[in-house]
Amino acid sequence: MSEFKFCPVCAANLVLRADDDDARKFRLACPDGHWTHWDNPLPVLAALVEIDGKMLLARNAAWAEGRFALITGFMERDETPEQGIAREIREETNLEASEINLIGVYEFMRKNELIIAYHVKATGSIRLSPELLEYRLVEPPDLRPWPAGTGYAVADWMRRQNLPVQFVEFAGSFTPLITPAQQ
Ligand SMILES: [Zn+2]
Repeated sequence: MSEFKFCPVCAANLVLRADDDDARKFRLACPDGHWTHWDNPLPVLAALVEIDGKMLLARNAAWAEGRFALITGFMERDETPEQGIAREIREETNLEASEINLIGVYEFMRKNELIIAYHVKATGSIRLSPELLEYRLVEPPDLRPWPAGTGYAVADWMRRQNLPVQFVEFAGSFTPLITPAQQ
């Protein structure tokens, strides 16, 4: 919440104000009532991308070696979630989505986000955007989801394929990550 200091209407210093419905909740607000920082969770799109029967996992340039995850991104104004995830996949991997199916919706309170996760069949040749360093193509039974956020989406997808789910744990990590089992 600390990123907001001033009212965007009158530039007054924001103050902490108890919520009208729940006095235990405090929100940053303009003392003159122009604006309230509701701090609602932000929707994040995530895709478990399948290409030729294998699952694509990518490593963000900022992440430690051996850590891979789903393709994720924020929605743009005036696009549906399906259009948004197809765009993210195109931008980040150069692949075209051919089939998009919702896996589910997952909380990620740690980052105040709501994850909307899809299984996406894609075609084309992989070319990563600069923000992704490398990728792996993993056989579905070799997926090892991390027990939070997008990992639960991967686990749910695996269960629907009648695949046994084995979670991994990363000590001290707060990023949703999936690891290919053979690595
Ligand atoms: Zn104000």
